[in-house]
Amino acid sequence: ALTDKLTRLVKEMRGQARITESNVQDMLREVRMALLEADVALPVVRDFIARVKDKALGQEVLGSLKPGQALVGIVNKELAATMGDGVADINLAAQPPAVILMAGLQGAGKTTTTAKLAKHLIEKRKKKVLTVSGDVYRPAAIEQLKTVSKQAGAEWFASTPDQKPRDIALAALDYAKKHYFDVLLVDTAGRLAIDELLMQEIKDLHAVLNPVETLFVVDAMQGQDAVNTARAFKEALPLTGIVLTKLDGDSRGGAALSVRQVTGAPIKFAGVSEKIDGLEVFDAERHAGRILGMGDIVALVEQVTAGVDMEAAQKLAAKVKSGDGFDLNDFLAQLQQMKQMGGLSSLMDKLPAQLTAKAGQVDMDKAERDIRRKEGIICSMTAQERRKPELIKATRKKRIAMGAGVQVQEVNRLLNEFDQMQGMMKKMKGGGLMKLMKKMGG
Ligand code: GDP
Ligand code: MG
Repeated sequence: ALTDKLTRLVKEMRGQARITESNVQDMLREVRMALLEADVALPVVRDFIARVKDKALGQEVLGSLKPGQALVGIVNKELAATMGDGVADINLAAQPPAVILMAGLQGAGKTTTTAKLAKHLIEKRKKKVLTVSGDVYRPAAIEQLKTVSKQAGAEWFASTPDQKPRDIALAALDYAKKHYFDVLLVDTAGRLAIDELLMQEIKDLHAVLNPVETLFVVDAMQGQDAVNTARAFKEALPLTGIVLTKLDGDSRGGAALSVRQVTGAPIKFAGVSEKIDGLEVFDAERHAGRILGMGDIVALVEQVTAGVDMEAAQKLAAKVKSGDGFDLNDFLAQLQQMKQMGGLSSLMDKLPAQLTAKAGQVDMDKAERDIRRKEGIICSMTAQERRKPELIKATRKKRIAMGAGVQVQEVNRLLNEFDQMQGMMKKMKGGGLMKLMKKMGG
């Protein structure tokens, strides 16, 4: 798999202090493949790789990161930056009603997204929303908008297939003004492909409506073609935002990068289900991970190194080395370090998809509960018991179990685990602390 290759390359780049022309080459080839596999358009890929190379070359590798890891970080950051910078909600800064015009190919998800946006604006921004369909070519399209608008709790303005889209738009605008609507969402006709007449029609609609938002709705599964579609719409209309739909499908979503690059408009939302609540604010960083298919490896690396209290870990190691003995207090300290790393499940979120699938078989919640219970047990012991676990016999066990709210068997299990750990500690003489902590995670 791609990730395996990248991981191997990251390893091979170890021990090199900076990113150079030669060590960056293989790495970038893999990134290029990843982008093409994710259906990012070729010219966009070329551009992107050139930019990354520029940024990466000669860069000192800071701190504990290896050049390979640093490069992955640069790639990820650049991807996220290309696709957007922070959250971009719908702009409603206009004399009410703020008009939102929906544009895109047939089947892209315009009608569905119109209703999703209506719901979003009603619930999150407390707006009074009116929808209208200018799709006079398919009679069912008007009915479809009526149905989904109802689900969204938005008012729907009736239109009929014998009307002209321009007249529908003007009538709806007039109605929205008279009835004090905050927002008017205008759904438009689907285009099977770029069609000059239909393009002219939506340009006219734009001219009479003067929308504050002109959203380009694009299907994430469209892949390479998304570039041409986006270019055509960009030439016809001053796009203010993009909605990327069907991200719940199995596409890697490379269209996001292409469309963003070609239109220059921010990706505002992502469609993640057919249902009316299947709309999310677009998260560029998360999407970068999806496109590369590798999660946020660098963040993971940083989180792990930052989370472990290095000083405490070294103290512990020194202690074991000097033969001072490893007691239950140290055991507790280790448990707490594991928690400090941000919790197991938060680490899991950052793993590449392929790894997560495998690790998904491990019940993370259970593992975390387990750590908490062990902590509880040790906390129910006296200071003396923690230093000298051999003191803990039947009566003490019962007392500790009561205090921690667990069965005596669990106290036994913990003591056994501690015994094993102590044995291992003696053998390792303080080295391999990380290895040990991994073991403890199960
Ligand atoms: P339009 O022709 O652009 O108006 O597209 P529609 O809104 O009618 O959507 C076309 C199809 O795509 C419908 O079957 C929708 O249910 C489906 N659809 C739209 N958005 C999404 C999405 O985010 N996820 C999924 N799975 N399906 C979607
Ligand atoms: Mg439609």
